[in-house]
Amino acid sequence: MSTHATSLTLLPNFFAGRWQSGTGTGSTLVDPVLGTELVRVGNEGLDLAEGFAFARDQGGQALRAMSYGQRAAMLGAIVKVLQANRDAYYDIATRNAGTTTKDSAVDIDGGIFTLGYYARQGEALGEAHLLLDGERIRMGKDPAFQTQHVLTPTRGVALFINAFNFPAWGLWEKAAPALLSGVPVIVKPATATAWLTQRMVADVVEAGVVPAGALSVICGSSAGLMDQLQPFDVVSFTGSADTARIIRSHPAVAQRSVRCNIEADSLNSALLDPSATEGSEAFHLLVSEVVREMTVKSGQKCTAIRRVFVPRALYQAAAQAIGAKLANTTVGNPRNEAVRMGALVSRAQYEGVLAGLAQLKTEAEVLFDGSRVPLVDADPAVAACVAPTLLGTPKPVDARVLHEVEVFGPVATLMPYDSEAQAYELIRRGEGSLVVSVYSADPAFIARAAAELGDSHGRVHAISPDVAASQTGHGNVMPMSLHGGPGRAGGGEELGGLRALAFYHRRSAVQASAAALDALAAGGAPCAW
Ligand code: NAP
Repeated sequence: MSTHATSLTLLPNFFAGRWQSGTGTGSTLVDPVLGTELVRVGNEGLDLAEGFAFARDQGGQALRAMSYGQRAAMLGAIVKVLQANRDAYYDIATRNAGTTTKDSAVDIDGGIFTLGYYARQGEALGEAHLLLDGERIRMGKDPAFQTQHVLTPTRGVALFINAFNFPAWGLWEKAAPALLSGVPVIVKPATATAWLTQRMVADVVEAGVVPAGALSVICGSSAGLMDQLQPFDVVSFTGSADTARIIRSHPAVAQRSVRCNIEADSLNSALLDPSATEGSEAFHLLVSEVVREMTVKSGQKCTAIRRVFVPRALYQAAAQAIGAKLANTTVGNPRNEAVRMGALVSRAQYEGVLAGLAQLKTEAEVLFDGSRVPLVDADPAVAACVAPTLLGTPKPVDARVLHEVEVFGPVATLMPYDSEAQAYELIRRGEGSLVVSVYSADPAFIARAAAELGDSHGRVHAISPDVAASQTGHGNVMPMSLHGGPGRAGGGEELGGLRALAFYHRRSAVQASAAALDALAAGGAPCAW
């Protein structure tokens, strides 16, 4: 990103209840296909303390005065605003993210769908202002004195530091549970694709459907944001493991106990049943899903399949089948209707993917190389387009880099295994991932794999022939299911239906008389998760 194009529009930040432009030149956002400069973002000169205090005090108070049902209705109103402006979002996505219409939908419509889901779930909580966690428990012989666990919305602000790959969904999948909980949001989108986030917030603010201070956006540098956090604030970070380390060790988290959710990188796996054959449906389901995962959003999904495990006898057959399907992927300018896969978000990411590929190749052979075919409508010297590459190694046990390095692009590595136990051991070398998908017609194998891999994965996605048409996709994050993963995936938890509200609430035990607990329960809704 260059910093010289001062004639470009500088997008204002909505902060401290008003639109404010940074005073510096900011950073320039670029079309990753054409290389043209689009807009600038920056927040130099903004009074961060004022913006955080405004959100915490005014936004928080207004949101907490509303019931869950009223806040759910507010989410419904946001959905309507976003739906009315969808065309503008698709246009920004094409220009700033280089995505095809189908790939833009994953982000834009995925975000709107998630908001709509929480609007419906929240409605059921009705007029309550707190959540009742479990049943009352007797504290002793006398049943008059009992304890009731309750969840109350935290009186702080939720800071979201987001990744570049989901400027729309990344905002709303976090904002929906936060706002439903009654917690104001300040979002700092990743600079490379900040425009879409900024525009969506602008539309919602202009429509007047959220109270003052409930939703703020600050684009550009992250400097100083973490310093603003106070004990009842929460921070949700999505991005690389390196930045996650900085967030985790910041005094706000390490000393002031600011609650912190981290979604970091992940070497997700696909596993084919040991009894599968080349002609089996499970084999074909794996092949299709791997190709889809490698190419959707040009592989820039934290949940994308990076490692593919098949029985050793099927290594060559899987390589051929995946390669044959990948050969149909036309890569280039998403404005051309013949193009199936657009660009990475920036030339910096392009360089990063090429460097990562070179690293993986030190331990793997190339099984399919899409770069032999020229790009459609795009200049390879300018466009951040990378063709799909399938790598493979017959010796996954000896590999180290292949289990460690996440290449954030259309790249996956095929690996054969010799026994079921070895497959599990190899998958666990990812040291904690967001998702593993299992391909099998055998319910007993699926159940075994789920039990074996559950502790090292946030989600186990099993694809069997009977759900081939209805399964929601390995990499698709659905709001009713948990998203997040242990270990290197960050250790975070998001979504999972109303479970997501827990992050924005504090749990306390109220020990009191039955009469007092009755009065408390009158303002609460049971949280049945
Ligand atoms: P990144 O470089 O770590 O950036 C993420 C965010 O952190 C950006 O908003 C960035 O701002 C900000 N940031 C950078 N340095 C910071 C600092 N010192 N203090 C506070 N904030 C800072 O990650 P990325 O390259 O955007 O995202 C790609 C990675 O995200 C991949 O590894 C992917 O696996 C992961 N990801 C995970 C999930 C998930 O749900 N698990 C989802 C999506 C992506 P600037 O943009 O201004 O630098």
